[in-house]
Amino acid sequence: MKILLVNDDGITAPGLAALKEAVQGRGEITVIAPQQQRSGMSHAITIDQPLRLRSVEQGFTVTGTPVDCVIMAMRGLDLEPDFVLSGINHGANLGTDVLYSGTVAAAVEGVLNGVRSIALSLAGSSSFLPTATQVARELLFEEPGFLLRPELIPASGVLNINIPALPRERIKGVRYTRLGVRRYDGMVQRRQDPWGSDYYWLGGIPGTLESNELEIDVAAVDQGYVSITPLQFDLTDYRALERLRSLG
Ligand code: MN
Repeated sequence: MKILLVNDDGITAPGLAALKEAVQGRGEITVIAPQQQRSGMSHAITIDQPLRLRSVEQGFTVTGTPVDCVIMAMRGLDLEPDFVLSGINHGANLGTDVLYSGTVAAAVEGVLNGVRSIALSLAGSSSFLPTATQVARELLFEEPGFLLRPELIPASGVLNINIPALPRERIKGVRYTRLGVRRYDGMVQRRQDPWGSDYYWLGGIPGTLESNELEIDVAAVDQGYVSITPLQFDLTDYRALERLRSLG
């Protein structure tokens, strides 16, 4: 089994090492990751400057985005992996945040290249990465064993897995979920530099949940479950399409 590992937090991120540990000894592993932290890049690609590919201790590193990394692996290095695994991201990728996520986008790029792909995120402190490694190993190779049962991974989308930041014994189980909505309090923060000019930080803290339904990814993780959402990148709104077509 050939597995390509990628992330959006950069080649030195502890989450990438944790993911490598989860798949260690299970196949032929190749690591490719951005040289720097590139979270929030979504599906961006670099087309206005050259890319450098370097071989380093952890694997290959690219001076570009997460999606650049997957493109370089498949079209530059001509790798033909059986699976792309993206993560383990530092922080959750839940609800509408998947639209900003470089972690999810790297997995989607795997699918666009015909490879079944999974995105993994740890919804909190990296001190729980050992737990996330263990949970990832279980999900991938034991129960349900996604890499041994690839038919469970969508062929035209990705599995988006979010692991709660809890000790293993406090994780209640797995929920198969749909995407919720995530809103942030204080999304734009204005501050002043030492010379009195305004500058801004985007970000903020996730707002309160609108629902406790465990069918929704945000709620499932909040209540201590691993959330697994199958995503598709066909963004067509079929109901709206029908309405428009009915205009004749
Ligand atoms: Mn990230």
